[in-house]
Amino acid sequence: DIALYRAKQLGRGRYALFDETMERNAVDELALEVELRHALQHGEFVPYFQPIFRLDNGEVVGHEALLRWNHPRRGVLPPGDFVRVARDCGQLEAIDWQLYGKACERMAQPDAGDGFVTINVSPLHLRHAGFDRQLLQLLASSGLPPERLLIELTEDALLEDPVLVRATLERLRAAGVQAALDDFGTGYSSLGYLHSLPLSKLKIDQMFVRELDTAGGAGANTVVSAILTLAARALGIDVIAEGIETEAQRDALRAMGCEFGQGFLFGRPQPQPHGV
Ligand code: C2E
Ligand code: MG
Ligand code: MG
Ligand code: MG
Repeated sequence: DIALYRAKQLGRGRYALFDETMERNAVDELALEVELRHALQHGEFVPYFQPIFRLDNGEVVGHEALLRWNHPRRGVLPPGDFVRVARDCGQLEAIDWQLYGKACERMAQPDAGDGFVTINVSPLHLRHAGFDRQLLQLLASSGLPPERLLIELTEDALLEDPVLVRATLERLRAAGVQAALDDFGTGYSSLGYLHSLPLSKLKIDQMFVRELDTAGGAGANTVVSAILTLAARALGIDVIAEGIETEAQRDALRAMGCEFGQGFLFGRPQPQPHGV
């Protein structure tokens, strides 16, 4: 395979920064593709855990498991550095399963407490036949009770093929696994259709949270209040605010009645669950 051979020849020492905002040429992408395959075989994809807190008393209720590439030379890389290429070359699902397995196994250990753990599921992945069955098998072999797992989905995951997605979510819910809507407010869905989906949590995107303590934050306040009124009060969906960085943001959210939060103010993603 000539293409693979060329990528190998480029070899070590060619570490262009794998920042997806930069132009990356086809040869760099191919080199990354080869490296990703190697990394999969060597188990280099690991979960980092970011705690999710109750805003009123600071109690940790769960964690989000976030993908990291523990690269032997370049250090710990965030998803923004490699997920697009991984998706384009068809390796993202295998990477995700490696991460889900490790996250569930870690959270099943006694020292991890009994809170929930969330995993991020990409839209295409969710629509694959057998996704729910494979997830339940993984739970069984990791020893994590299904009731402690939540899958985080973005709005686009719900809009494409809604009938199939709903059926998958309902089967998972029947088995105990809940679903959370991630990055709410950035997509096209409206609050109005939330009630028709089997969702138990909703995460307000950090874009709104960031504006809460700024002078121009009135619009963000209105959006957040509307989400809380409908989701939390009318539908009984738990609301988690993402990306809380300042005490002013936390206080504004608490004052509006937001129950849960996540962000650098409370804790950054770490290789171990909170308190370990
Ligand atoms: P997300 O699911 O919305 O995750 C939240 C992102 O916000 C994480 O970035 C987290 O580190 C970051 N974050 C948390 N608190 C704060 C804060 O206070 N301020 C700021 N500025 N950022 C904060 P990360 O880990 O780089 O992940 C980025 C995105 O990559 C995630 O967004 C998610 O869409 C995707 N992702 C993460 N893990 C996985 C995975 O296992 N599989 C797949 N397919 N995608 C993943
Ligand atoms: Mg997420
Ligand atoms: Mg999010
Ligand atoms: Mg996000």
